[in-house]
Amino acid sequence: MSMLRVLLRSGVSQVQRACMSTAALPAPKANPEILYTGIFINNEWRKSSSSKTFETINPATGQVIAEVQEGDQNDINLAVKAAGDAFKLGSPWRRMDASERGVLLNRLADLLERDAVYLASLETLDNGKPYTVSYSFDVPASAKVLRYCAGWADKNHGKTIPLDGDYFCFTRHEPVGICGQIIPWNFPLLMASWKLGPALATGNVVVLKPAEQTPLTALYVAQLAKEAGFPPGVVNVVPGDGKTGAAIVRHMDVDKVAFTGSTEVGKLIQEGAGKSNLKRVTLELGGKSPNIIFSDADLDYAVEQSHFGLFFNMGQCCCAGSRTFVEDSIYDKFVERSAERAMKRTVGDPFDFSVEQGPQIDKEQMDKILDLIKSGKKEGAKIVAGGSRHGDKGYFVEPTVFADVKDDMKIAREEIFGPVQQIIRFKTMDELIARANKTDYGLAGAVFTKDIDKAMHIVQGLRAGTVWVNTYNVLGAQAPFGGYKMSGNGRELGEYGLQAYTEVKTVIVKIPQKNS
Ligand code: NAD
Ligand code: MG
Repeated sequence: MSMLRVLLRSGVSQVQRACMSTAALPAPKANPEILYTGIFINNEWRKSSSSKTFETINPATGQVIAEVQEGDQNDINLAVKAAGDAFKLGSPWRRMDASERGVLLNRLADLLERDAVYLASLETLDNGKPYTVSYSFDVPASAKVLRYCAGWADKNHGKTIPLDGDYFCFTRHEPVGICGQIIPWNFPLLMASWKLGPALATGNVVVLKPAEQTPLTALYVAQLAKEAGFPPGVVNVVPGDGKTGAAIVRHMDVDKVAFTGSTEVGKLIQEGAGKSNLKRVTLELGGKSPNIIFSDADLDYAVEQSHFGLFFNMGQCCCAGSRTFVEDSIYDKFVERSAERAMKRTVGDPFDFSVEQGPQIDKEQMDKILDLIKSGKKEGAKIVAGGSRHGDKGYFVEPTVFADVKDDMKIAREEIFGPVQQIIRFKTMDELIARANKTDYGLAGAVFTKDIDKAMHIVQGLRAGTVWVNTYNVLGAQAPFGGYKMSGNGRELGEYGLQAYTEVKTVIVKIPQKNS
Protein backbone atom coordinates (compact mmCIF):
# COMPACT_ATOMS: atom_id res chain seq x y z
CA MET A 1 0.00 0.00 0.00
CA SER A 2 1.36 3.42 -0.85
CA MET A 3 2.45 5.81 1.90
CA LEU A 4 -0.32 8.11 0.81
CA ARG A 5 -2.98 5.45 1.33
CA VAL A 6 -1.59 4.54 4.74
CA LEU A 7 -1.75 8.16 5.78
CA LEU A 8 -5.22 8.76 4.45
CA ARG A 9 -6.49 5.75 6.35
CA SER A 10 -4.74 6.78 9.51
CA GLY A 11 -6.59 10.07 9.68
CA VAL A 12 -4.27 12.79 8.49
CA SER A 13 -5.43 16.36 8.72
CA GLN A 14 -7.21 18.25 5.97
CA VAL A 15 -4.09 20.28 5.27
CA GLN A 16 -2.02 17.17 4.72
CA ARG A 17 -4.68 15.56 2.59
CA ALA A 18 -4.94 18.68 0.46
CA CYS A 19 -1.20 18.67 -0.07
CA MET A 20 -1.01 15.02 -1.03
CA SER A 21 -3.59 14.58 -3.75
CA THR A 22 -1.58 16.05 -6.61
CA ALA A 23 -3.16 13.98 -9.39
CA ALA A 24 -6.04 16.38 -9.97
CA LEU A 25 -4.05 19.62 -9.76
CA PRO A 26 -4.07 21.96 -12.75
CA ALA A 27 -0.66 22.82 -14.16
CA PRO A 28 0.88 25.98 -12.66
CA LYS A 29 1.85 29.04 -14.65
CA ALA A 30 5.61 28.63 -14.54
CA ASN A 31 6.19 32.29 -15.36
CA PRO A 32 3.17 34.12 -14.01
CA GLU A 33 2.94 37.65 -15.37
CA ILE A 34 3.66 40.24 -12.68
CA LEU A 35 0.77 42.66 -13.03
CA TYR A 36 0.93 44.84 -9.92
CA THR A 37 4.03 46.23 -8.22
CA GLY A 38 2.74 49.63 -7.11
CA ILE A 39 1.15 51.19 -4.05
CA PHE A 40 -2.62 50.72 -3.90
CA ILE A 41 -4.50 53.70 -2.42
CA ASN A 42 -8.11 54.72 -3.07
CA ASN A 43 -8.50 51.85 -5.55
CA GLU A 44 -5.70 53.27 -7.71
CA TRP A 45 -2.12 52.27 -8.40
CA ARG A 46 0.60 54.81 -7.59
CA LYS A 47 4.35 55.09 -7.59
CA SER A 48 6.15 55.73 -4.28
CA SER A 49 6.50 59.37 -3.19
CA SER A 50 10.27 58.90 -2.90
CA SER A 51 10.57 57.04 -6.24
CA LYS A 52 12.28 54.26 -4.29
CA THR A 53 11.73 50.61 -5.19
CA PHE A 54 12.90 47.29 -3.78
CA GLU A 55 13.51 43.91 -5.35
CA THR A 56 11.48 40.85 -4.63
CA ILE A 57 13.39 37.64 -5.20
CA ASN A 58 12.58 34.07 -6.20
CA PRO A 59 14.09 32.11 -3.29
CA ALA A 60 14.44 28.96 -5.41
CA THR A 61 16.95 30.66 -7.70
CA GLY A 62 18.00 33.90 -6.02
CA GLN A 63 16.88 35.80 -9.13
CA VAL A 64 14.99 39.08 -9.05
CA ILE A 65 11.30 38.71 -9.96
CA ALA A 66 10.28 42.36 -9.95
CA GLU A 67 10.98 45.85 -8.66
CA VAL A 68 8.26 46.91 -6.23
CA GLN A 69 7.38 50.47 -5.14
CA GLU A 70 8.61 51.15 -1.60
CA GLY A 71 6.18 53.12 0.53
CA ASP A 72 7.50 55.60 3.09
CA GLN A 73 5.86 57.85 5.68
CA ASN A 74 4.36 60.05 2.93
CA ASP A 75 2.73 57.10 1.25
CA ILE A 76 1.43 55.81 4.57
CA ASN A 77 0.00 59.29 5.26
CA LEU A 78 -1.82 59.19 1.92
CA ALA A 79 -3.14 55.70 2.57
CA VAL A 80 -4.32 56.61 6.07
CA LYS A 81 -6.01 59.74 4.70
CA ALA A 82 -7.80 57.69 2.03
CA ALA A 83 -8.86 55.15 4.64
CA GLY A 84 -10.08 57.93 6.95
CA ASP A 85 -12.16 59.47 4.17
CA ALA A 86 -13.69 56.09 3.35
CA PHE A 87 -14.58 55.71 7.02
CA LYS A 88 -16.38 59.05 7.35
CA LEU A 89 -20.02 58.90 8.35
CA GLY A 90 -22.20 59.05 5.26
CA SER A 91 -19.54 57.45 3.03
CA PRO A 92 -20.58 54.54 0.80
CA TRP A 93 -18.76 52.13 3.13
CA ARG A 94 -20.40 53.45 6.32
CA ARG A 95 -23.83 53.50 4.69
CA MET A 96 -23.47 50.03 3.25
CA ASP A 97 -25.69 47.33 4.78
CA ALA A 98 -23.73 44.88 6.90
CA SER A 99 -25.10 42.06 4.76
CA GLU A 100 -23.71 43.78 1.67
CA ARG A 101 -20.22 43.76 3.23
CA GLY A 102 -20.68 40.01 3.45
CA VAL A 103 -21.64 39.90 -0.22
CA LEU A 104 -18.45 41.77 -1.15
CA LEU A 105 -16.28 39.45 0.93
CA ASN A 106 -17.88 36.42 -0.69
CA ARG A 107 -17.25 37.98 -4.08
CA LEU A 108 -13.59 38.49 -3.16
CA ALA A 109 -13.43 34.80 -2.19
CA ASP A 110 -14.97 33.92 -5.59
CA LEU A 111 -12.26 35.94 -7.33
CA LEU A 112 -9.50 34.18 -5.37
CA GLU A 113 -10.97 30.89 -6.55
CA ARG A 114 -11.37 32.11 -10.13
CA ASP A 115 -7.67 33.04 -10.21
CA ALA A 116 -6.45 30.14 -8.07
CA VAL A 117 -3.86 28.85 -10.55
CA TYR A 118 -2.41 32.30 -11.10
CA LEU A 119 -2.39 33.19 -7.38
CA ALA A 120 -0.88 29.86 -6.36
CA SER A 121 1.80 30.19 -9.05
CA LEU A 122 2.60 33.75 -7.97
CA GLU A 123 2.82 32.65 -4.32
CA THR A 124 5.18 29.83 -5.19
CA LEU A 125 7.37 32.10 -7.30
CA ASP A 126 7.62 34.80 -4.61
CA ASN A 127 7.71 32.61 -1.49
CA GLY A 128 9.15 29.27 -2.65
CA LYS A 129 6.47 27.03 -1.13
CA PRO A 130 5.52 24.03 -3.27
CA TYR A 131 2.81 24.81 -5.82
CA THR A 132 0.99 21.68 -4.66
CA VAL A 133 0.62 23.40 -1.27
CA SER A 134 -0.13 26.93 -2.46
CA TYR A 135 -2.80 25.60 -4.84
CA SER A 136 -4.31 22.99 -2.49
CA PHE A 137 -3.95 24.82 0.78
CA ASP A 138 -3.04 28.53 0.74
CA VAL A 139 -5.54 29.70 -1.87
CA PRO A 140 -8.58 27.66 -0.71
CA ALA A 141 -7.84 28.32 2.97
CA SER A 142 -7.68 32.05 2.20
CA ALA A 143 -11.02 31.94 0.38
CA LYS A 144 -12.53 30.01 3.28
CA VAL A 145 -11.48 32.62 5.82
CA LEU A 146 -13.06 35.35 3.71
CA ARG A 147 -16.29 33.34 3.42
CA TYR A 148 -16.37 32.60 7.14
CA CYS A 149 -15.99 36.32 7.91
CA ALA A 150 -18.56 37.20 5.24
CA GLY A 151 -21.09 35.12 7.14
CA TRP A 152 -20.44 37.15 10.30
CA ALA A 153 -20.88 40.54 8.62
CA ASP A 154 -24.54 40.93 9.63
CA LYS A 155 -24.38 38.83 12.80
CA ASN A 156 -21.98 40.88 14.87
CA HIS A 157 -24.63 42.28 17.17
CA GLY A 158 -24.62 43.59 20.70
CA LYS A 159 -26.84 42.92 23.70
CA THR A 160 -29.69 44.55 25.58
CA ILE A 161 -28.83 45.01 29.23
CA PRO A 162 -31.24 45.31 32.19
CA LEU A 163 -29.67 48.43 33.66
CA ASP A 164 -31.08 49.66 37.00
CA GLY A 165 -33.53 52.57 36.63
CA ASP A 166 -35.79 53.81 33.86
CA TYR A 167 -33.37 53.19 31.07
CA PHE A 168 -33.07 51.15 27.93
CA CYS A 169 -29.45 49.99 27.67
CA PHE A 170 -27.91 48.24 24.71
CA THR A 171 -24.51 47.73 23.12
CA ARG A 172 -23.42 48.25 19.55
CA HIS A 173 -20.40 46.49 18.07
CA GLU A 174 -18.79 49.21 16.01
CA PRO A 175 -15.69 49.06 13.81
CA VAL A 176 -12.43 50.15 15.46
CA GLY A 177 -11.68 52.40 12.48
CA ILE A 178 -8.44 52.63 10.53
CA CYS A 179 -6.59 49.33 10.91
CA GLY A 180 -2.90 48.99 10.07
CA GLN A 181 -2.10 45.39 9.20
CA ILE A 182 1.50 44.21 8.98
CA ILE A 183 2.05 40.68 7.75
CA PRO A 184 4.94 38.23 7.34
CA TRP A 185 6.33 36.23 4.44
CA ASN A 186 5.60 32.65 5.48
CA PHE A 187 1.94 32.60 4.36
CA PRO A 188 1.64 35.84 2.37
CA LEU A 189 -1.81 35.31 0.85
CA LEU A 190 -3.30 33.48 3.83
CA MET A 191 -2.10 36.14 6.29
CA ALA A 192 -3.59 38.85 4.07
CA SER A 193 -6.97 37.12 4.24
CA TRP A 194 -6.71 36.46 8.01
CA LYS A 195 -6.28 40.22 8.34
CA LEU A 196 -8.68 41.54 5.69
CA GLY A 197 -11.57 39.14 6.41
CA PRO A 198 -12.43 40.10 10.00
CA ALA A 199 -11.53 43.78 9.54
CA LEU A 200 -13.82 44.24 6.54
CA ALA A 201 -16.64 42.04 7.87
CA THR A 202 -16.88 44.32 10.90
CA GLY A 203 -16.81 47.52 8.82
CA ASN A 204 -13.25 48.76 9.30
CA VAL A 205 -10.93 50.32 6.74
CA VAL A 206 -7.46 48.95 6.17
CA VAL A 207 -3.88 49.90 5.37
CA LEU A 208 -2.09 46.61 4.82
CA LYS A 209 1.66 46.18 4.49
CA PRO A 210 2.89 42.88 3.09
CA ALA A 211 6.37 41.60 3.94
CA GLU A 212 9.19 42.94 1.77
CA GLN A 213 10.15 39.38 0.79
CA THR A 214 6.68 38.52 -0.56
CA PRO A 215 4.57 41.49 -1.65
CA LEU A 216 3.12 40.11 -4.88
CA THR A 217 0.01 38.13 -3.89
CA ALA A 218 -1.25 40.81 -1.48
CA LEU A 219 -0.91 43.39 -4.27
CA TYR A 220 -2.92 41.20 -6.60
CA VAL A 221 -5.58 40.79 -3.89
CA ALA A 222 -5.83 44.60 -3.69
CA GLN A 223 -6.86 44.67 -7.34
CA LEU A 224 -9.33 41.84 -6.71
CA ALA A 225 -10.85 43.82 -3.81
CA LYS A 226 -11.49 46.66 -6.24
CA GLU A 227 -13.01 44.24 -8.73
CA ALA A 228 -15.20 42.76 -5.97
CA GLY A 229 -16.65 46.23 -5.40
CA PHE A 230 -15.07 47.53 -2.19
CA PRO A 231 -15.34 51.33 -2.33
CA PRO A 232 -12.16 53.43 -2.79
CA GLY A 233 -10.08 53.81 0.38
CA VAL A 234 -11.51 50.76 2.19
CA VAL A 235 -8.58 48.51 1.26
CA ASN A 236 -5.16 50.13 0.81
CA VAL A 237 -1.95 48.17 0.34
CA VAL A 238 1.46 49.77 0.77
CA PRO A 239 4.49 47.55 0.13
CA GLY A 240 7.78 48.23 1.90
CA ASP A 241 10.01 47.00 4.71
CA GLY A 242 10.13 47.55 8.46
CA LYS A 243 10.40 51.33 8.03
CA THR A 244 7.09 51.34 6.18
CA GLY A 245 5.58 49.23 8.96
CA ALA A 246 6.95 51.60 11.60
CA ALA A 247 5.31 54.53 9.77
CA ILE A 248 1.94 52.81 10.23
CA VAL A 249 2.64 52.10 13.89
CA ARG A 250 3.52 55.67 14.77
CA HIS A 251 0.67 57.27 12.81
CA MET A 252 -1.70 59.16 15.13
CA ASP A 253 -4.81 58.45 13.02
CA VAL A 254 -4.37 54.69 12.92
CA ASP A 255 -6.75 53.12 15.46
CA LYS A 256 -5.38 49.60 15.54
CA VAL A 257 -2.38 47.61 14.40
CA ALA A 258 -2.63 43.89 13.78
CA PHE A 259 0.78 42.31 13.37
CA THR A 260 2.11 38.85 12.59
CA GLY A 261 5.85 38.26 12.67
CA SER A 262 8.79 38.09 15.07
CA THR A 263 8.53 38.64 18.81
CA GLU A 264 11.32 41.22 18.50
CA VAL A 265 9.26 43.41 16.15
CA GLY A 266 6.09 42.67 18.14
CA LYS A 267 7.70 44.39 21.12
CA LEU A 268 8.55 47.42 18.98
CA ILE A 269 4.95 47.61 17.82
CA GLN A 270 3.52 47.49 21.31
CA GLU A 271 6.01 50.15 22.36
CA GLY A 272 5.20 52.29 19.31
CA ALA A 273 1.49 52.11 20.05
CA GLY A 274 2.19 53.24 23.62
CA LYS A 275 4.33 56.14 22.45
CA SER A 276 1.81 57.38 19.89
CA ASN A 277 -1.95 57.19 20.41
CA LEU A 278 -2.39 53.95 22.37
CA LYS A 279 -3.78 52.34 19.24
CA ARG A 280 -5.16 48.85 19.81
CA VAL A 281 -2.59 46.14 19.18
CA THR A 282 -3.01 42.49 18.37
CA LEU A 283 0.11 40.41 17.92
CA GLU A 284 0.72 36.95 16.56
CA LEU A 285 4.38 36.17 17.15
CA GLY A 286 6.86 33.35 17.38
CA GLY A 287 6.78 30.00 19.09
CA LYS A 288 8.79 27.03 20.28
CA SER A 289 5.94 24.62 20.60
CA PRO A 290 6.20 21.33 22.48
CA ASN A 291 4.92 18.21 20.76
CA ILE A 292 4.65 15.38 23.30
CA ILE A 293 4.66 11.72 22.28
CA PHE A 294 3.77 9.08 24.88
CA SER A 295 4.81 5.47 24.44
CA ASP A 296 1.22 4.26 23.93
CA ALA A 297 0.76 6.40 20.79
CA ASP A 298 0.57 4.78 17.36
CA LEU A 299 4.24 5.11 16.50
CA ASP A 300 4.10 5.44 12.70
CA TYR A 301 1.27 7.92 12.90
CA ALA A 302 3.00 10.00 15.60
CA VAL A 303 6.26 10.03 13.61
CA GLU A 304 4.45 11.23 10.47
CA GLN A 305 2.40 13.85 12.30
CA SER A 306 5.45 15.14 14.14
CA HIS A 307 7.35 15.31 10.85
CA PHE A 308 4.50 17.26 9.28
CA GLY A 309 4.11 19.41 12.42
CA LEU A 310 7.67 20.60 12.03
CA PHE A 311 8.62 20.42 8.34
CA PHE A 312 5.40 21.83 6.83
CA ASN A 313 6.12 25.07 4.93
CA MET A 314 9.89 24.48 5.19
CA GLY A 315 9.59 24.76 8.98
CA GLN A 316 8.51 28.37 8.58
CA CYS A 317 5.43 28.13 10.80
CA CYS A 318 4.97 30.08 14.01
CA CYS A 319 3.26 27.02 15.53
CA ALA A 320 5.86 24.47 14.35
CA GLY A 321 6.30 21.57 16.77
CA SER A 322 9.96 22.39 17.22
CA ARG A 323 10.47 20.59 20.52
CA THR A 324 9.44 16.98 20.04
CA PHE A 325 9.36 15.40 23.54
CA VAL A 326 9.38 11.60 23.27
CA GLU A 327 8.93 9.11 26.12
CA ASP A 328 12.04 7.19 27.04
CA SER A 329 10.85 3.69 26.13
CA ILE A 330 10.13 4.55 22.48
CA TYR A 331 12.76 7.28 22.09
CA ASP A 332 15.32 5.37 20.02
CA LYS A 333 12.74 3.89 17.68
CA PHE A 334 11.07 7.26 17.25
CA VAL A 335 14.39 8.93 16.41
CA GLU A 336 15.28 6.25 13.89
CA ARG A 337 11.93 6.49 12.07
CA SER A 338 11.90 10.30 12.14
CA ALA A 339 15.36 10.33 10.58
CA GLU A 340 14.22 7.90 7.88
CA ARG A 341 11.18 10.05 7.14
CA ALA A 342 13.22 13.26 6.98
CA MET A 343 15.72 11.65 4.60
CA LYS A 344 12.85 10.67 2.31
CA ARG A 345 11.53 14.22 2.20
CA THR A 346 11.81 15.50 -1.36
CA VAL A 347 13.52 18.87 -1.68
CA GLY A 348 13.79 20.95 -4.85
CA ASP A 349 11.98 23.03 -7.46
CA PRO A 350 8.72 24.09 -5.79
CA PHE A 351 6.86 23.91 -9.13
CA ASP A 352 7.63 20.16 -9.36
CA PHE A 353 4.61 18.15 -8.12
CA SER A 354 6.77 15.54 -6.40
CA VAL A 355 8.53 18.11 -4.22
CA GLU A 356 7.56 18.40 -0.56
CA GLN A 357 10.03 21.11 0.41
CA GLY A 358 11.11 24.26 -1.41
CA PRO A 359 13.67 26.89 -0.37
CA GLN A 360 13.74 29.00 2.77
CA ILE A 361 12.51 32.53 2.22
CA ASP A 362 15.90 34.26 1.80
CA LYS A 363 19.63 34.03 2.35
CA GLU A 364 19.36 35.68 5.77
CA GLN A 365 16.95 33.01 7.03
CA MET A 366 18.99 30.20 5.45
CA ASP A 367 22.19 31.45 7.10
CA LYS A 368 20.42 31.83 10.45
CA ILE A 369 19.19 28.24 10.25
CA LEU A 370 22.60 26.89 9.24
CA ASP A 371 24.17 28.79 12.18
CA LEU A 372 21.65 27.27 14.59
CA ILE A 373 22.43 23.81 13.19
CA LYS A 374 26.13 24.48 13.88
CA SER A 375 25.34 25.54 17.43
CA GLY A 376 23.33 22.34 17.97
CA LYS A 377 26.30 20.23 16.89
CA LYS A 378 28.65 22.26 19.06
CA GLU A 379 26.47 21.87 22.12
CA GLY A 380 26.47 18.09 21.71
CA ALA A 381 23.19 17.25 20.01
CA LYS A 382 23.41 14.42 17.49
CA ILE A 383 22.50 14.94 13.82
CA VAL A 384 20.62 11.90 12.51
CA ALA A 385 19.43 13.42 9.22
CA GLY A 386 20.53 16.35 7.05
CA GLY A 387 22.50 19.16 8.66
CA SER A 388 23.63 21.16 5.62
CA ARG A 389 22.58 23.45 2.83
CA HIS A 390 20.90 21.61 -0.04
CA GLY A 391 22.56 22.38 -3.38
CA ASP A 392 24.28 25.69 -4.14
CA LYS A 393 21.51 27.60 -5.91
CA GLY A 394 18.64 29.26 -4.06
CA TYR A 395 18.20 28.98 -0.29
CA PHE A 396 17.50 25.32 0.38
CA VAL A 397 18.27 23.53 3.66
CA GLU A 398 18.31 19.75 4.09
CA PRO A 399 15.55 18.29 6.26
CA THR A 400 17.47 18.00 9.52
CA VAL A 401 16.79 15.95 12.64
CA PHE A 402 18.64 16.33 15.94
CA ALA A 403 18.54 13.64 18.63
CA ASP A 404 19.87 13.84 22.21
CA VAL A 405 18.71 17.44 22.47
CA LYS A 406 18.82 18.92 25.98
CA ASP A 407 16.39 21.59 27.19
CA ASP A 408 19.03 24.27 27.68
CA MET A 409 20.63 24.00 24.22
CA LYS A 410 20.13 26.97 21.93
CA ILE A 411 18.29 24.79 19.38
CA ALA A 412 15.78 23.83 22.09
CA ARG A 413 15.21 27.42 23.17
CA GLU A 414 15.33 29.63 20.07
CA GLU A 415 12.87 29.70 17.23
CA ILE A 416 14.69 28.22 14.23
CA PHE A 417 11.94 28.77 11.65
CA GLY A 418 13.47 26.15 9.41
CA PRO A 419 13.38 22.42 8.62
CA VAL A 420 15.15 21.34 11.81
CA GLN A 421 13.50 18.94 14.26
CA GLN A 422 14.68 18.62 17.86
CA ILE A 423 13.88 15.30 19.54
CA ILE A 424 14.09 15.46 23.32
CA ARG A 425 13.77 12.58 25.80
CA PHE A 426 11.42 12.55 28.78
CA LYS A 427 10.95 9.94 31.49
CA THR A 428 8.08 10.90 33.74
CA MET A 429 4.87 12.85 33.48
CA ASP A 430 5.85 14.90 36.56
CA GLU A 431 8.81 16.60 34.90
CA LEU A 432 7.08 16.98 31.58
CA ILE A 433 4.70 19.92 31.99
CA ALA A 434 7.30 22.12 33.65
CA ARG A 435 9.84 21.33 30.93
CA ALA A 436 7.35 21.88 28.11
CA ASN A 437 6.35 25.24 29.59
CA LYS A 438 9.93 26.37 30.21
CA THR A 439 9.92 28.82 27.32
CA ASP A 440 9.01 32.45 26.79
CA TYR A 441 6.63 31.36 24.06
CA GLY A 442 3.16 29.84 24.28
CA LEU A 443 1.61 29.57 20.85
CA ALA A 444 0.75 25.89 20.50
CA GLY A 445 1.46 22.37 21.67
CA ALA A 446 0.37 18.82 21.01
CA VAL A 447 0.13 15.46 22.70
CA PHE A 448 -0.04 11.99 21.18
CA THR A 449 -1.48 9.25 23.40
CA LYS A 450 -4.40 6.84 23.57
CA ASP A 451 -4.91 7.63 27.27
CA ILE A 452 -7.56 10.33 27.72
CA ASP A 453 -6.37 11.12 31.24
CA LYS A 454 -2.85 11.83 30.07
CA ALA A 455 -4.12 13.86 27.15
CA MET A 456 -6.33 16.03 29.35
CA HIS A 457 -3.55 16.50 31.88
CA ILE A 458 -1.37 17.90 29.12
CA VAL A 459 -4.21 19.99 27.66
CA GLN A 460 -4.71 21.62 31.04
CA GLY A 461 -1.03 21.96 31.85
CA LEU A 462 0.34 23.54 28.69
CA ARG A 463 0.42 27.34 28.71
CA ALA A 464 -0.35 27.74 25.01
CA GLY A 465 -3.08 29.18 22.82
CA THR A 466 -3.81 25.95 20.95
CA VAL A 467 -3.32 22.35 22.07
CA TRP A 468 -3.75 19.54 19.58
CA VAL A 469 -4.50 16.00 20.68
CA ASN A 470 -3.38 13.24 18.31
CA THR A 471 -3.00 15.69 15.44
CA TYR A 472 -0.93 18.73 14.49
CA ASN A 473 -1.26 21.99 12.51
CA VAL A 474 -5.04 21.83 12.30
CA LEU A 475 -6.26 25.40 11.91
CA GLY A 476 -9.58 26.61 10.63
CA ALA A 477 -11.43 29.86 10.12
CA GLN A 478 -13.88 28.95 12.90
CA ALA A 479 -11.32 28.29 15.66
CA PRO A 480 -9.42 31.08 17.43
CA PHE A 481 -5.65 31.11 17.09
CA GLY A 482 -3.09 33.09 19.08
CA GLY A 483 -0.53 32.98 21.82
CA TYR A 484 0.06 33.00 25.54
CA LYS A 485 3.12 34.80 26.91
CA MET A 486 5.52 36.20 24.31
CA SER A 487 3.76 34.46 21.43
CA GLY A 488 1.30 37.29 21.18
CA ASN A 489 -1.65 39.23 22.30
CA GLY A 490 -5.27 38.61 21.32
CA ARG A 491 -6.74 36.00 19.03
CA GLU A 492 -7.33 35.78 15.30
CA LEU A 493 -10.09 33.82 13.55
CA GLY A 494 -13.37 32.62 14.95
CA GLU A 495 -15.73 34.85 16.89
CA TYR A 496 -12.88 36.02 19.15
CA GLY A 497 -10.97 37.21 16.10
CA LEU A 498 -13.87 39.40 15.01
CA GLN A 499 -14.17 40.90 18.48
CA ALA A 500 -10.63 42.19 18.09
CA TYR A 501 -11.87 44.43 15.26
CA THR A 502 -14.80 45.96 17.14
CA GLU A 503 -15.30 48.57 19.81
CA VAL A 504 -18.25 48.11 22.14
CA LYS A 505 -20.46 51.18 22.45
CA THR A 506 -22.89 51.31 25.36
CA VAL A 507 -26.08 53.24 24.62
CA ILE A 508 -28.34 54.30 27.50
CA VAL A 509 -31.73 55.77 26.67
CA LYS A 510 -33.96 57.41 29.27
CA ILE A 511 -37.42 55.89 29.18
CA PRO A 512 -40.06 58.51 29.98
CA GLN A 513 -42.42 57.23 32.68
CA LYS A 514 -46.06 58.01 31.97
CA ASN A 515 -49.05 56.68 33.76
CA SER A 516 -50.87 54.48 31.31
P1 NAD B 1 9.80 40.51 11.02
O1 NAD B 1 9.05 40.44 12.28
O2 NAD B 1 10.97 41.42 10.94
O3 NAD B 1 8.82 40.91 9.82
C1 NAD B 1 7.43 40.74 9.81
C2 NAD B 1 6.77 41.98 9.23
O4 NAD B 1 7.03 43.10 10.07
C3 NAD B 1 7.25 42.40 7.85
O5 NAD B 1 6.17 42.89 7.11
C4 NAD B 1 8.24 43.49 8.17
O6 NAD B 1 8.43 44.41 7.10
C5 NAD B 1 7.57 44.17 9.33
N1 NAD B 1 8.45 44.94 10.20
C6 NAD B 1 9.78 44.73 10.45
N2 NAD B 1 10.24 45.65 11.32
C7 NAD B 1 9.19 46.46 11.66
C8 NAD B 1 9.03 47.59 12.53
N3 NAD B 1 10.05 48.06 13.25
N4 NAD B 1 7.81 48.14 12.63
C9 NAD B 1 6.77 47.67 11.93
N5 NAD B 1 6.86 46.62 11.08
C10 NAD B 1 8.06 46.02 10.94
O7 NAD B 1 10.23 39.07 10.65
P2 NAD B 1 11.54 38.65 9.78
O8 NAD B 1 12.72 39.49 10.13
O9 NAD B 1 11.14 38.63 8.37
O10 NAD B 1 11.77 37.18 10.33
C11 NAD B 1 12.53 37.02 11.52
C12 NAD B 1 11.97 35.94 12.39
O11 NAD B 1 10.62 36.24 12.72
C13 NAD B 1 11.89 34.57 11.76
O12 NAD B 1 13.10 33.90 11.81
C14 NAD B 1 10.83 33.94 12.60
O13 NAD B 1 11.42 33.44 13.77
C15 NAD B 1 9.90 35.06 12.94
N6 NAD B 1 8.70 35.08 12.07
C16 NAD B 1 7.54 34.69 12.62
C17 NAD B 1 6.39 34.65 11.84
C18 NAD B 1 5.08 34.21 12.40
O14 NAD B 1 4.23 33.74 11.65
N7 NAD B 1 4.83 34.37 13.68
C19 NAD B 1 6.44 35.02 10.51
C20 NAD B 1 7.66 35.46 9.96
C21 NAD B 1 8.78 35.48 10.78
MG1 MG C 1 13.11 41.62 9.72
